[in-house]
Amino acid sequence: MNQTSSIQKLLRPSIRAVTPYSSARSEFSGKAEVFLDANENSFGSPISHALYNRYPDPLQKRLKEKISGIKGVAAESIFVGNGSDEAIDLLIRAFCEPGMDLIMITPPTYGMYEVSAAIHNAGIVSVPLLRGDGTFLLDVEAIIAATTSQTKLLFICNPNNPTGTVFPAEIIKKILDIFPGIVVVDEAYNDFTPDSSFIPKLSAYPRLVVIQTLSKAWGLAGLRLGMAFASPELIRVLNTIKPPYNINTVTQELALAGLNNAEWFEATVQETLQQREMLEQELRKSPHVQHIYPSGANFILVRVSDAPALYQAFVRAGIIVRDRSQVQLCEGCLRITVGTAQENNRLVETLQQWK
Ligand SMILES: *Cc1c(COP(=O)(O)O)cnc(C)c1O
Repeated sequence: MNQTSSIQKLLRPSIRAVTPYSSARSEFSGKAEVFLDANENSFGSPISHALYNRYPDPLQKRLKEKISGIKGVAAESIFVGNGSDEAIDLLIRAFCEPGMDLIMITPPTYGMYEVSAAIHNAGIVSVPLLRGDGTFLLDVEAIIAATTSQTKLLFICNPNNPTGTVFPAEIIKKILDIFPGIVVVDEAYNDFTPDSSFIPKLSAYPRLVVIQTLSKAWGLAGLRLGMAFASPELIRVLNTIKPPYNINTVTQELALAGLNNAEWFEATVQETLQQREMLEQELRKSPHVQHIYPSGANFILVRVSDAPALYQAFVRAGIIVRDRSQVQLCEGCLRITVGTAQENNRLVETLQQWK
């Protein structure tokens, strides 16, 4: 390396020095028929039709080629994780020296940033969102004011969980221009807000990481498959520190099968958006509903007259929503995932019959 890049400077010194585990299969790259290098079971697996006796591809080549085609990103800019939670965890481990460095979050937001940081003994700086005109805003000035050289990572969830808020691209760009650390834009719900992804901006911002997942719009939460998109340099770091076989063979195969069914994905995204619209319309008619926050995701945050009591009423009807009423800035709110037409009707009927 001729010049120390900003990524190298931000990394923990111990991480910079790590040599990745060299798996048996990655030391050989040619053609062979007899594999006696990895202590696998040469007699096969007890599941007769499958090659599960072999270790999975540690760098998920075929899967990344597919993702590359869908997302328009070079494979070398893609990290694949055991859920996007693995990417969040690895980013914190790569950049935050325990007991010293910090992550910044903008609550109310996704809870795993804080949990991963706490497990790693990284500090947490919270810069709460501002209440806008019936929505939420990023407090850019407070973010900048609270940033120090120890603030290595800033997590922005867009669309935000649990509020559903889509933040204006200009605001996120402004933060990317000013924040000196790594900016992680978590786009777990981005599929429900077309054309809002920051993936096309990766080449302009070397310290940007975009996180996405197959768990929401792609309908594959059970597979545990998340993605991080970033500069090849940063992706190399994540690949260096991940467990070598972090994505098992079954997940790689089924994720590929899922991604090959883009028609299903597109149709259910459209249906989700229609159902969200219907659900909002119905909720608005209820005297118990005080406010519906604008959502770019597959859920809506709703302020109601008595959130804990309504939550219990839903439970009695066999419907589980998320009670967020104890969360700062979400006082009185329930977070409701958009269901099928039938499920949403059942929820609305329960609300109509309440009290
Ligand atoms: C659901 C969710 C994730 C988790 O994704 P996995 O890929 O299932 O680990 C990440 N970020 C946000 C904001 C989420 O809501």
